Amino acid sequence: MPTAQHRFIVIGAGPTGLGAALRLLELGEPDFLLIEATAAAGGLAGSVIDDQGFTWDLGGHVQFSHYQKFDEYMALALGEDGWISHQRESWVWIRGRFVPYPFQYNLHRLPKEEMWRCVQGLMEVARAPGGTPADFEDWSLRTFGRGISEVFLLPYNFKVWAYPPAAMNARWVGERVAVPDLQTVIKGICLGEDNLSWGPNNRFRFPRTGGTGAIWTKLAGHIPADNKRFSDAVVTIDAANQTVTTVSGKCYAYDHLISTLPLDRLAVLVGDPTLIEQTARLLYSSVHVVGIGLRGQPPEALRTKCWMYFPEDDCPFYRVTVFSNYSPNNTPEPGTTWSLIAEVSESPRKPVAAERVVEDVIRGLHATRLIGPDSEILTRWHRRLEHGYPTPSRGRDAILDQTLPALEGRHLYSRGRFGAWRYEVSNQDHSLMQGVEVIERLVNGRPELTLNQPDLVNGRYNLSPYPEWR
Ligand SMILES: Cc1cc2nc3c(=O)[nH]c(=O)nc-3n(C[C@H](O)[C@H](O)[C@H](O)COP(=O)(O)OP(=O)(O)OC[C@H]3O[C@@H](n4cnc5c(N)ncnc54)[C@H](O)[C@@H]3O)c2cc1C
Repeated sequence: MPTAQHRFIVIGAGPTGLGAALRLLELGEPDFLLIEATAAAGGLAGSVIDDQGFTWDLGGHVQFSHYQKFDEYMALALGEDGWISHQRESWVWIRGRFVPYPFQYNLHRLPKEEMWRCVQGLMEVARAPGGTPADFEDWSLRTFGRGISEVFLLPYNFKVWAYPPAAMNARWVGERVAVPDLQTVIKGICLGEDNLSWGPNNRFRFPRTGGTGAIWTKLAGHIPADNKRFSDAVVTIDAANQTVTTVSGKCYAYDHLISTLPLDRLAVLVGDPTLIEQTARLLYSSVHVVGIGLRGQPPEALRTKCWMYFPEDDCPFYRVTVFSNYSPNNTPEPGTTWSLIAEVSESPRKPVAAERVVEDVIRGLHATRLIGPDSEILTRWHRRLEHGYPTPSRGRDAILDQTLPALEGRHLYSRGRFGAWRYEVSNQDHSLMQGVEVIERLVNGRPELTLNQPDLVNGRYNLSPYPEWR
């Protein structure tokens, strides 16, 4: 017999689950329960304080927003004063030097031979006929040419995704990569000028204290105690009888279940062999997040940098964030301590020796000159995220087109970064809005734009309510 009956059960108090719960409250639908396995809200967007007092995000998190509604929730979480605002400064470490991002607009920093190789590739592309790229590697070659692809894009993307770019589809890219404009490229080379300010995301905010996780802890505080159950994982889902059972033995009946678990894990909890087989073909990569806390202040070269990309083999990480630049309060003694977060990807195609990864990261930090021989390391923090990046693989959309509707036919709505497995709408703002929109659909019959129209929502600032909802 179920312990209780609810109109909605939401599994997971990450951004997606919190978006769903907050929207239910706003719509005057109090008959719901939010169940979270851990003691804290935030999921992959949570933060941790280590034994030495350093705050760590689970990978460098940056607050971008495509949505008015998301911004309203951010204000609800931390007000207007709870943030530090930053100019985005991202760089590529390559050939023993820093090149500003976007790489293609700063080729003047490369050795001359390589600069020419990159320009030659771009000129070939400009003359080539159009066509639909077969995969992400093909997209890179057609869009950037052989030079930029081979020097930077393809090695870098293998390092991030842990799968060969040829195994990935070309549709997810959207606005995420700045498509080159030959005139801007040539101007940068001729004038020897840096171009640092591409794109919609050139400013961002970060919580003044508590790391990114502070946002989600605060928002979870707006959900009444009776509507949430933390430290209790869902262990089985009986889709036929519309009940979930938790590890503590509680059983809850539901009309609608919103799950933010990774889709492959949901399939296992439902126990459906077809679903298990289908979702096991979705690719994903794991991420080792390594936090290094140091005495002193960042060296001059890192004083204003936000994050850096690493395409080469001289280090295991694909990205390093100067985390103390986001907020000095991310360290125990602001002003006399500083911190770096390095991310290392892993997959069956790119194995990582977990027991060595921290030492390998430190070696890489020395090799790339981010830290020097005299740097005093105060703390080494490591967390492996099994589900880190949902890979936009070539077969992904066919699997999602089968599995998500099949689940919905059984009152199961799988949403969020790994719930919907769509990388292009898997940041915090997208995830929260997937939660908001699935509730809007179930309560008010409105379309879910983020899930179904990634290019639309990513190509504009989405006012609330959407014009499409009016
Ligand atoms: C390395 C890295 C870097 C990132 N950088 C950025 C960035 O710069 N900007 C940005 O906006 N986003 C970034 N993200 C993405 C961001 O973390 C996600 O958008 C967000 O956390 C996804 O939210 P979610 O709620 O869909 O899933 P999750 O955060 O994964 O939340 C799922 C929740 O479900 C809970 N759960 C799992 N199993 C059970 C169970 N059986 N029962 C109950 N609860 C369960 C988990 O504990 C978790 O709290 C990054 C992610 C990673 C991994």
